[in-house]
Amino acid sequence: MTKYIFVTGGVVSSIGKGIATASIGRLLRNRGYTVAPVKLDPYINVDAGTMNPFQHGEVFVTEDGAETDLDLGHYERFMDVSCSHGSSVTTGKVYRNVIEAERRGDYLGGTVQVIPHVTQEIKRLIVDAGKQQEADVVIAEVGGTVGDIESLPFLEAIRQMKKDAGAENVLYVHVSFVPTVGPWHEVKTKPTQHSVIKLREIGISPDVLVCRSEVPLGEDVKEKISLFCDVPVNAVIESLNAPTIYEVPLNYEDLGLGTYISERLGLEQRDANLAEWEKIVEILKHPREKCRIAIVGKYTENGDAYKSIAEALVHAGIPNNAKVDIEWIESDTLESGIPPQELLQGCDGLIVAPGFGSRGIEGKVEAVKWAREQGLPFLGICLGMQVAVIEFARNVCGLQGANSEEMEPKAPYSVVHLLPEQKGITSKGATMRLGSYPCNLVNGTISQKLYGSAKITERHRHRFEVNNDFRELFTEHGMVISGVSPDYRLVEMVEIPSHPFYVATQAHPEFKSRPNRPHPLFAGLVKAALARAKKNDSAAIEA
Ligand code: GLN
Repeated sequence: MTKYIFVTGGVVSSIGKGIATASIGRLLRNRGYTVAPVKLDPYINVDAGTMNPFQHGEVFVTEDGAETDLDLGHYERFMDVSCSHGSSVTTGKVYRNVIEAERRGDYLGGTVQVIPHVTQEIKRLIVDAGKQQEADVVIAEVGGTVGDIESLPFLEAIRQMKKDAGAENVLYVHVSFVPTVGPWHEVKTKPTQHSVIKLREIGISPDVLVCRSEVPLGEDVKEKISLFCDVPVNAVIESLNAPTIYEVPLNYEDLGLGTYISERLGLEQRDANLAEWEKIVEILKHPREKCRIAIVGKYTENGDAYKSIAEALVHAGIPNNAKVDIEWIESDTLESGIPPQELLQGCDGLIVAPGFGSRGIEGKVEAVKWAREQGLPFLGICLGMQVAVIEFARNVCGLQGANSEEMEPKAPYSVVHLLPEQKGITSKGATMRLGSYPCNLVNGTISQKLYGSAKITERHRHRFEVNNDFRELFTEHGMVISGVSPDYRLVEMVEIPSHPFYVATQAHPEFKSRPNRPHPLFAGLVKAALARAKKNDSAAIEA
């Protein structure tokens, strides 16, 4: 019998509902359960692929090519599972299915309504996600905050699930905020009480309250919340800001949440295997070394736009026993006349981020040029690789004005151009080269050594590719094409072996990095950055 955990949020948005959901998943994974996470997103977009990362944060891509909310990244990293199309349920997707069914005649004679038809479709998708993953437990997080108009059908659907699946198999977790006010930082429980009242109006009584707070709550406050919200006191979980998000599951475990959930859902009580996770958190909290990596991108004002890259750097610190600080550099700034050395000095490595459109592209070219010339460890990701190729074509191969067709359709040398299968596609939703594709690595290259294998798969999200007409020229000038698609048609990775670390990939390796399995490319970059930091330190001491 599949169990269901539903996570809602109250009081304010951005209180870490995604991390709470991911952490609860970790508690179950530590007990050996299979878990299927689902994100229920109330927006009308069919998927997150058409949303601006400025507004919505990163678009996370799954193995099977779904373009989803960044919370799925948290789920994959914390639970060490692979999400899929089924893990993301949006209002747009639900309505599309319902309207298509109506047009087919599936409801012939009936009036199609939010209840029962829309709620039925939501429930079907939730149950299906569990079946697909053969999950013991489905954990579904409802996006938005209780009280939003647009999340009502989702809340109604999860309310109905109690009847469908049996009350003993369904658990509701409400993540709330407990603020402090006044000069004495008085803890206020009223917003949480109101949020729970709002939830009850809809017919949902929470079983667990995760209370985000900046100060410890104290037993009296927990008792008060327990009394007013009708939740046992041991299910009032204080969730303080943690030095690393990866500590959150350990904190929940300490507070007995894993045991409580198992008991409440009638899961057999198993010991939680915490050893691996504790080791990770220990290194993250007490790293021995440190380096600084610059990320050049055009959405750096919203750090969430590059969430998986930032997390992959955190993970890459673990095998190197190091903390990785990030220097966010807006690519526009590199075009404003400030020389790259000024912005990149103090950084031990550089990542040029993925992206779309021409804004900031010349700034990115400048950054790569400087890294190439100065021996600054460099990792180019997707657009970052395309920029590296443009820079190499212009400044090493002498192809003046070389560019990507995406930026300059009439460039004298289109060293990056549209993938053939993209020609003629005008529709923007889910039409890119998406999801996991195989790649063969050339033996003896940096990339092959880092991966420790000649056959890899990585996730993709792009429309353009390196123009094969220039492969020979690049190779003659010292750039190695280290990764190609199995049919040899597509350049997937390039590197410069004479450089301390210069690797670029058409894929998005960041999506596959996990704290327990740091990605080899990021680990390689951080290792090279640490070596450079040490060299710079000893040079400074000698001077
Ligand atoms: N805009 C480029 C392309 O579509 C790169 C995409 C990306 O960085 N994800 O090919």
